[in-house]
This record gives sequence, C-alpha cells and structure tokens, in this order.
Amino acid sequence: MTPAPRLDQRQNGMFMRFGLPFGLAQAGPIAYMDCEKEHDFAFLPGPFALTEERIRLPMTDTAPTASPMPAPGPTEPVVVPRPDPATSDARIDLLGLSKDELKAALADIGVAERERKMRAQQVWHWVHHRGVTDFAAMTNVAKEMRGLLARHFRISRPEVREALVSSDGTRKWLLRFSDGAEAECVFIPEDDRGTLCVSSQVGCTLNCRFCHTGTMRLVRNLTSAEILGQVMLARDALDEWTAPTADRRLTNIVMMGMGEPLYNFENVKKALETVMDENGIQLSRRRITLSTAGVVPMMARCGEEIGVNLAVSLHAVRDEIRDEIVPLNRKWKIAELLEACASYPGANNARRITFEYVMLKGVNDSDADARELVRLLRHHRIPAKVNLIPFNPWPGSAYECSDWTRIERFSEIVFSSGISAPVRTPRGRDIMAACGQLKSASERRRRTARG
Ligand code: SF4
Repeated sequence: MTPAPRLDQRQNGMFMRFGLPFGLAQAGPIAYMDCEKEHDFAFLPGPFALTEERIRLPMTDTAPTASPMPAPGPTEPVVVPRPDPATSDARIDLLGLSKDELKAALADIGVAERERKMRAQQVWHWVHHRGVTDFAAMTNVAKEMRGLLARHFRISRPEVREALVSSDGTRKWLLRFSDGAEAECVFIPEDDRGTLCVSSQVGCTLNCRFCHTGTMRLVRNLTSAEILGQVMLARDALDEWTAPTADRRLTNIVMMGMGEPLYNFENVKKALETVMDENGIQLSRRRITLSTAGVVPMMARCGEEIGVNLAVSLHAVRDEIRDEIVPLNRKWKIAELLEACASYPGANNARRITFEYVMLKGVNDSDADARELVRLLRHHRIPAKVNLIPFNPWPGSAYECSDWTRIERFSEIVFSSGISAPVRTPRGRDIMAACGQLKSASERRRRTARG
C-alpha cells in the first residue's frame, strides 16, 4: 500500500486550513471548534469569501484505488455503566465528584452539618479550580480538617505511561488507570488556541472501518474522574493552574479521542460540567465540542443537558457506503441522523454543526458525493461546516487516501456552495498521534514482551 504523501512534501497548491491534527480516532482530534470566532463565515456566497480559512497546501498524490471492505461491525452501545475500577487505595477519590457528592462524602467522615457547605466549596475550589492534589496545600482549611480529609480522601491523576512531544508541538499522553486500562489524550497547540482531545472509553465498540481505534476491543467506559483527569493532567503539564484565564494555553476541548462519548453519556456529562463550572475549570461550552458517530437518540440530550458544540462523523452521503464505513449507520440512517442535527439544541450560524468527512479514495470522494453532501445539508437546513480529513492509512486498513487533486476538487464544490469545507492538516505524526496508534503500539510491545 502506498502511504499518503506527507503534506510538507507536496509541491503544488491546494487550499487547506492549517494547523489541525489528525486524531486518536482516525478522523482525528480536530482543533478548530471556536464558533465565536468563525460565525462570520457561515454560508458565505462562494469560495473566495473564505480565503481567511485557507492556506496553500502542497499536493501530489497517486495512491492506488482501494476496495471497500465488506466487513460488518457491532453497533450496540455499552448499555450499563460499569462500576469504578478497583484501586489499592481505599480512600475516596474527590476528583470527578459532583458538589452534592462531595457534601455527602464530607458528611460521611463526620464533618459537622453547619460547616459542610463551606468546606465543600473550599475543597471543590482547591481540587477543580486550583488543581491541587495535596490537602496540605489547602491553606484556608484548618490544619485538623486537612488531616481528616487526607485520611479519607485522595485527589487522583491518571498515571502517565508515556508522554511524547511532536516536532510540531503536539503532545500525546498514554494514560493508565488504576485497573490497568489505558487510553490516550492529545494536546494540539496552535497560534490562537490549544485544544485537548479527550477519550471517553477504553477502546470502542463502533468499528468504523477507517479507524484504527475501532480495531481495538472495548474494554470499558471511562469514569467521570478518568475523563476529567485527562484535562487536569494536561493543565498540570502545561503549568497553567495559576495562569489568568486570558493567558491559558488549553483553551478548547474536543471529545474526539477513543470511544463514542454518547455511549458514556452520564460520565461525559459529569466531567464536562466540572470543566465548565465557574468554580471549576471555567471553560465555556462554546469551546467544547463533542463528536459522535451518530447516536441519534442521545443527540438532543447532549444539546439540552450539556450544551456543547456538536461534531458528527459523517464520512459518507449514501447509506450503502456509510453502512460499510460507519456501521452504526445500519441502526440510524443518514436522513435520521441529519434530522437530529437539524434540531440540535443551540445550533445556529454562530454555532454550526461540524461534519467530519474522511477522504477515502474511490469510496466517498467523487464530485457527485460532494454535491450530494451540499444537497443534504441544504435540504435539512443545517447550519454546517465540513472538515475534510485526508485518510491516514494504518497497517491492515482497507482504504487509501484520496488523491490531492480529488480532495481539492471536493473542497471546492462544497466551498462554492457557501459551506466552509477546509481540509485538515495532520498533527503530531512523528509521535504517532493518529488514530489510536500509541495504544496499539503499547499493546504490541506487551505482546512482544510476553514472547
Ligand atoms: S466511533 Fe469509535 S471506531 Fe468510530 S471513529 Fe470514533 S473511535 Fe473510531
């Protein structure tokens, strides 16, 4: 198989938005979700009105045609949340507790009712706003109380098994949780923002055919503490707990790492509530994007109860193709999915829904596909932007990346209809930041070690 050419090796021009990553899932964490900034570009009249979103992208490509893979994949959700993983430390982890749960935990260790509310506020602030992991640092809490807290509670972080930094500044962490399960998260710095791509599950049930993560079996849902822990750990690493909000480097979060976040809704919701809380991490919901492969029944709840931006892994405009490459489509077809998008709470031209579209040679990349994409988005009246993602082949994958002339043509057709359709640049390739490769690499190493 001919690998896709490196973007920096291409010579001739095509338009592409810069600085965006290719993700943990093959479609990638995408560091672009700043609707406050981009709303002026919605449904502009033609391609030249959108040149601010574009840079010259070099291109050449001659990848051979791939055959579609006629392989089914399970699409059933993880229905029952699993219990928290066992840990050798019997103390209760305060990370990820809601405020009410924290108050109840304080009651359980004998904190008097008259001071419980105040203590809960103090501890919550130290844990989630100041990022401390040591009760001794809680200087406005009486010394005796700090001792009591330390005897009963802990404030966790995921164990970092591997921390890598790309030549382009992308950082990737392979994290290990208390039961040995592993997941990864990636930080993608850009000039005007820094985006953390967060995982919601260990592995994934959905088996999207182009996605390396989808080849891994689902181990379990991550707990709210483990989801939140990825954000806390990144902020630790970026040393920004004391930074004023305006000087933050981690400015955006995308739930686009391993797993389908809407199959772990409650834990994702709980973690993001803390991220958004004014006494927590204080990140605006407009700077958080949740990406789904199309769990239609949960989409309205996502908008109503969490209120973050929505991204949809669309990847095809015909059911027979999407059935194959996103097997979840067999459960909820494209029309149903787009209807759910059209009624997504809070979506408008200032907060457009992002459609991710991986470019697979000979599968979903024709002019007719591009025109059908435009027709569908217009038909359903969806305030939309499209991200075109060059496919990044991996060992065993059945697909190849579309030719660059094809990607350019596809982008132009969508752009010329007035819908933003930038092509995303992979980030962090030198540290295998694409598509669950780090996790896979760690699994390979373990297998090798076992002989
Ligand atoms: S839903 Fe799962 S299989 Fe599909 S792209 Fe996301 S991580 Fe990969």
